[in-house]
Amino acid sequence: MDFQLAEEQNEIKRSVREFAENEIRPHVMEWDERQQFPHEVISKLGLMGLMGVVFPAEYGGAGLGYIEYVTVIEELSRVDGSVGIVVAAHNSLCAGHIFAAGTEDQKHKYLAPLARGEKLGCWSLTEPHAGSDAGGTRTTARLEGDHWVLNGAKTFTTNGTYADICVAMAVTDRASRKHGISAFIIEKGTPGFHPGKKENKLGLRASDTAEVVFQDCHVPRENCLGQPGEGFVDSLKVLDKGRISIAALAVGMAQGAYEAALAYAKQRRQFGRPIAEFQAIQFKLADMATEIDAARLLTYRAASLADRADQGCRVTREGAMAKLFAGEVAVRVANEAVQIHGGYGFIKDYPAEKYYRDVKLCTIG
Ligand SMILES: Cc1cc2nc3c(=O)[nH]c(=O)nc-3n(C[C@H](O)[C@H](O)[C@H](O)COP(=O)(O)OP(=O)(O)OC[C@H]3O[C@@H](n4cnc5c(N)ncnc54)[C@H](O)[C@@H]3O)c2cc1C
Repeated sequence: MDFQLAEEQNEIKRSVREFAENEIRPHVMEWDERQQFPHEVISKLGLMGLMGVVFPAEYGGAGLGYIEYVTVIEELSRVDGSVGIVVAAHNSLCAGHIFAAGTEDQKHKYLAPLARGEKLGCWSLTEPHAGSDAGGTRTTARLEGDHWVLNGAKTFTTNGTYADICVAMAVTDRASRKHGISAFIIEKGTPGFHPGKKENKLGLRASDTAEVVFQDCHVPRENCLGQPGEGFVDSLKVLDKGRISIAALAVGMAQGAYEAALAYAKQRRQFGRPIAEFQAIQFKLADMATEIDAARLLTYRAASLADRADQGCRVTREGAMAKLFAGEVAVRVANEAVQIHGGYGFIKDYPAEKYYRDVKLCTIG
């Protein structure tokens, strides 16, 4: 058990931090206000190998581990949770599902361009009537000759408007219930497949969250992902790792909010001294720092188990605990960050209000 990152892992952390400070920080509020998707940043992250962090080089990936992956999501989210969630949904949901369940052909055809950052991915499970109860999926797929024909609509798909490759779940055998839902790979431009309403959100506004619609959408038979009927069961395994992503997103945003509050407390003077000299403010900052560290440790533990999946380690429980705790810590920390800023925490000239809006996704998604 080693609580230090290795030198190479620290180097990745440093380079992603530098990238986020230089390429993301200056634009954060502008993108947030305009709900502007950060296309250029995503392309650059692709060139850095960060759109396929954990996948082997033969499938276009960087061949790194889950510890490196959570470090990347954490550092991006420390500056902008919107970039963090875009990269997380692409890596751990869309590409992660193809890596876990895809055939060799599917991995070379679809995973490789995703992992190289040439294409953007999305993953569609949620429907208007099937949220927490995702097994209640209503979108259908029926086999007609050499094609599956999909009909229905998905909601709240991260990257839904811009994705080149979508992995979506649809019912293929209603009688078999949770063993009657299959996963499909759908390419942008497939007739009958198009994005629907782009949501106008409370937070993470530069990320894209959209409906995805299927109207008599013909998908080649070979684009069924995994065993027919096992798409929902595979989705639960994908979500095991997806929760580690959300935990890293939460830790990153909490860290960003904490640093903003600490810097503000040192420079804001009231009653003739910096407010950081008042013990009531110090108590808040100490609790925030301690809780973030605890959330980070849970997240790194889950990531370390994910790295040892080939030794039979499972992450279902540990990933869920990390996500639960880190999400709630992020909400508490962002709340205190606004409080420490006083009235300026309510004003868009300071970063606290944006963290406060963005972190709420972590206790919902
Ligand atoms: C920004 C954003 C991005 C997202 N990205 C994606 C994505 O990329 N792909 C995707 O498929 N989905 C995505 N989602 C969907 C997300 O996973 C769902 O919002 C989430 O699963 C909750 O479903 P719901 O919104 O329908 O809420 P509901 O399931 O309707 O829940 C409403 C409330 O009821 C509670 N509740 C539900 N069931 C129970 C129960 N059994 N006992 C007690 N309380 C319960 C919930 O905790 C919640 O408080 C995204 C959502 C958002 C907001």
